[in-house]
Amino acid sequence: MNSQNSHKSFKAGDIIMKQGDEGRCAYIIEEGLVEILIEKPDGQTLNVGTRGEGSIIGEMALVDAAPRTATVKAVRDCSMLEITSEDFSQRLKTTDPVVQMISQVILTRYRDTLTRADILRDDLTYPPPEAIEKTFAEQADVVESVKIANELRSALDKDELEMHFQPIINLSGGHITGFEALMRWPHPEQGFISPGLFIPIAEKSGLIVDASKWALRQSCLGLKRIQEATGRDDLYVSVNFSSHDFAEPDFVHNITDTIKDCNVAPDKIVLEITERLLIQQPDNAKDTLLACHDEGVRIAIDDFGTGYSSLSYLYYFPIDILKIDQSFIRAMYREERSLELVKSIVALATNLNLLCVAEGVEDIEEARLLQGMGCESAQGFYFARPMPEENIVTLMTGWEPVKVSA
Ligand code: C2E
Ligand code: CA
Ligand code: CA
Repeated sequence: MNSQNSHKSFKAGDIIMKQGDEGRCAYIIEEGLVEILIEKPDGQTLNVGTRGEGSIIGEMALVDAAPRTATVKAVRDCSMLEITSEDFSQRLKTTDPVVQMISQVILTRYRDTLTRADILRDDLTYPPPEAIEKTFAEQADVVESVKIANELRSALDKDELEMHFQPIINLSGGHITGFEALMRWPHPEQGFISPGLFIPIAEKSGLIVDASKWALRQSCLGLKRIQEATGRDDLYVSVNFSSHDFAEPDFVHNITDTIKDCNVAPDKIVLEITERLLIQQPDNAKDTLLACHDEGVRIAIDDFGTGYSSLSYLYYFPIDILKIDQSFIRAMYREERSLELVKSIVALATNLNLLCVAEGVEDIEEARLLQGMGCESAQGFYFARPMPEENIVTLMTGWEPVKVSA
């Protein structure tokens, strides 16, 4: 259970919640017995039932902070698990949009039924369930997301997704050292759908786990073939992962099995993760990353500089590569602050003995500036766009080292 859930104990006779008080949490009864009492406007108190182990009480607080609809009193000593409304909405945000919508609508309808049953004071104002349903559907783009999620599921099953590879260049030598693997979805009607659109939907719907497994295997197989075709077994591939992948119990096994199956050297595989993931699941991520690192796999922090300010995680986690976010590279010429920030990241990487990769390099001036700072590698449209494996082999066959320094 999440750290925001806490256990509460109540003695027989204690009032656990009082009718009319603001509701901020629900409880799951782990042990004990409670009675539910409703005070009528005429002052009469009705006992409307008892609840025991495994029951949930005060769940309306998960919809809004409206006053409690009943008083709950412990009949026996009770032990409860408290679920705050913040925790509940946090959990909802990370589930499938359909589950989100249905949970909200059921809870709101339930509140509506209680109101209509007239067992509450009648001065309470709630938005009608229809309004909630509509806003929720609009806000969450539920219908569109579900449609895309279904199509993505089918594209995965039919092996219709593709992996493209974007070269990563060594700035002093001008040669290709590796690639970032980027997913592409050629949609039969809409053309290429951007990963910026479908990856968040894949994450919300849970499809990302299968998509990532598929992406890793295709990236390893693609790398192996590129290495063989070019005679360059020093080339590496960097694969993107989401926090959902890290929550999978067989994550490490899957990584190591896939690498073995595809017969690639583990140190030629890089896992790209964001700072956010490290902050959200520090303990889980640390063990997982250490296990992968022990197998020889390298770890890169993607979009470095956009997440959180704490740098302590650079010591706490086994990190090998920092990828400077492209927004800083883009702003280097316009804003002194971005330029200084990029310089600091490059210096930080050098001091910690990490490989530094600048993302989104679009012109020679940016490349020169980065090389002058001591940034080792770069990727961006200036050097090459993401492309299918076959084009990579052709590109590499005719590759002339890019002359970056003036
Ligand atoms: P990202 O990991 O930061 O990937 C880099 C993005 O920058 C790619 O966009 C790439 O095409 C783009 N890019 C590269 N060089 C330049 C440049 O010089 N200028 C500009 N403007 N853009 C450049 P893409 O392929 O559209 O991917 C977007 C995001 O989708 C990725 O951002 C990543 O977060 C996610 N993504 C893509 N493929 C995968 C995947 O296989 N798994 C996961 N979990 N996420 C993926
Ligand atoms: Ca990336
Ligand atoms: Ca990035």
